[in-house]
Amino acid sequence: MENSIKEDKLLRGGQFLVKETKAEDIFTPEDFTEEQKMMRDSVKEFVDREIWPKKEEFEKKNYALTEEVMGKAGELGFLGVAVPEKYDGLGMGFVSTMLVCDYISGATGSIATAFGAHTGIGTLPILLYGNEEQRKKYVPKLATGEWFGAYCLTEPGAGSDANSGKTKAELTEDGKSYKINGQKMWISNAGFASVFIVFARIEDDKNITGFIVEYDKENPNGITFGEEEKKLGIHASSTRQVFFNDTVIPAENMLSERGNGFKIAMNALNVGRIKLAAASLEAQRRVTDVAVKYANDRVQFKTPIAKFGAIKLKLAEMATSAWVGEAASYRAAKNIEDRINLRQEAGESHSDAELKTFEEYAIECSILKVACSEDVQNCSDEGIQVLGGMGFSADTPMESAWRDARIARIYEGTNEINRMLAVGMLIKKAMKGHVDLLGPAQAVGEELTGIPSMDKPDFNELFAEEKDMIKKLKKVFLMVAGSAVQKFGQDLEEHQQLLLAASDILIEAYMAESAILRAEKNVKRFGEDAQKEQIAMAKLYLYHAVDTVNQKAKEGIASFAEGDEQRMMLMGLKRFTKYDRMPNVVELRNTIAEKLTSENKYCF
Ligand SMILES: Cc1cc2nc3c(=O)[nH]c(=O)nc-3n(C[C@H](O)[C@H](O)[C@H](O)COP(=O)(O)OP(=O)(O)OC[C@H]3O[C@@H](n4cnc5c(N)ncnc54)[C@H](O)[C@@H]3O)c2cc1C
Repeated sequence: MENSIKEDKLLRGGQFLVKETKAEDIFTPEDFTEEQKMMRDSVKEFVDREIWPKKEEFEKKNYALTEEVMGKAGELGFLGVAVPEKYDGLGMGFVSTMLVCDYISGATGSIATAFGAHTGIGTLPILLYGNEEQRKKYVPKLATGEWFGAYCLTEPGAGSDANSGKTKAELTEDGKSYKINGQKMWISNAGFASVFIVFARIEDDKNITGFIVEYDKENPNGITFGEEEKKLGIHASSTRQVFFNDTVIPAENMLSERGNGFKIAMNALNVGRIKLAAASLEAQRRVTDVAVKYANDRVQFKTPIAKFGAIKLKLAEMATSAWVGEAASYRAAKNIEDRINLRQEAGESHSDAELKTFEEYAIECSILKVACSEDVQNCSDEGIQVLGGMGFSADTPMESAWRDARIARIYEGTNEINRMLAVGMLIKKAMKGHVDLLGPAQAVGEELTGIPSMDKPDFNELFAEEKDMIKKLKKVFLMVAGSAVQKFGQDLEEHQQLLLAASDILIEAYMAESAILRAEKNVKRFGEDAQKEQIAMAKLYLYHAVDTVNQKAKEGIASFAEGDEQRMMLMGLKRFTKYDRMPNVVELRNTIAEKLTSENKYCF
């Protein structure tokens, strides 16, 4: 294992808000290694052969096809990318894990869900929290697709409040087994899984406990299933209720320790969240690709619709959301990979290093989950619009892409929960002294009450104004969240709408910064001319981010500040969201759209 970064260059989780990142210190998709590019191409080739041509079958709820494709993915090693070689995986780093997840997920949400549930929440709890015997017994079979995994946390009465489940695990009198009784709901892969990670409560414990439960059709051991759920989308993803009636499992199948289940469940979700962001990217690329081709072909008013400004606007925005999502997802993925490597170099085991790292970057994982799941929805929505009536037809890929995208905002923690978590975790980190928010927040406070500088900044260099704007957006977060913490202290969590607004500011700052840094890094190595459209995408995203930040901050400020305090903060907000040179977004969009239509594909 070779480490590519020095400790002092690697930002800690959440630190992006208060530390400046240099373009050369972020990883972008243009940095993929030859090995990663080969992996990407073989996954793409697999999808084009095994999934994309069979889209209609997936929509007809062909669950067997999902199982078959998952089996083939296992044979090719795709299910074991993140699994160390000693457990029959490929032992690749986290960037490669994200890459496979990204490209395998774009053709149908059914495979995206089956893949995510199996490789993430279905396998990782054993890999990260299992003991050596458990790992040896289960992980190789899961990594190769001989067995499939499922994750049973949600219950009819326990969704977002995941620790409130009623499923019970009772130690048998001889102390050798646990008897599990309860009902789980919305379980992905339930129809074909052999290994279930089940969370249950022992006696009246405060926290749930994790267990590995095997399922064998010939000997069901009290496990029964509900019918397949009838869903809006992801039609060929198996989703069922799972009932445990006196299901007896060996006591040694407990995962980690008694009462540690909630922690396992949450940490598995951190990984799941960032992977879900990756899983939203290829769908956006493919949808944009279809829209571009259609727009070039479709003639109305004797003109290809791609020539209309209204369509250019959509194509440009669609491509931009995919490109920015990539920038932020792979930036965070590499930070995570580097931190895991650094921890291992310092002597930590692979599983400890992964666990601590995902906990550390939980803020970025939530940010990405929210941003990319909403982008894929908007992108497919606009995709439908570009195709007009044909977009509404099940004969084009837009219709199922739109329905499939909807689930991403619900599972792996709803976007409301993830938004509030992101800000909550950041504040907690500040309280613990892991991220210094107090100093920067005080500095912003002083800036607000001080006399504004009359110096005209020099924005002549490329991205000088944009980078200054990113700094200012971060100040807006510090101003709003800092004042809110001061005002409400521990009670801040009661003010959910304020937290949601603060979270949107945080999300926009991270996404916009990632976009600007990706473009800047690429301009430095490929030249400004070659990156004309990427520059336009970064600037276009930032323009929207500034608007969102402005709107959310106003909402937040007005909710808790009055009189002079409110006036001062609103004046600060005006200053922090003011462009010196307002970008010409129409021109930016035209630049992007013209490249897309001249290449007749998603080409970034
Ligand atoms: C297709 C599908 C597949 C799934 N796969 C799995 C799986 O494999 N394993 C598994 O364990 N689970 C799975 N789930 C469950 C999924 O994780 C939950 O649906 C999700 O966590 C939300 O829980 P809920 O549906 O009970 O909604 P609720 O928790 O009832 O939420 C309803 C609404 O209230 C909001 N809300 C809830 N609590 C709060 C709060 N404190 N503050 C503010 N707003 C709040 C939510 O954001 C949401 O908008 C799956 C769900 C679906 C639909």
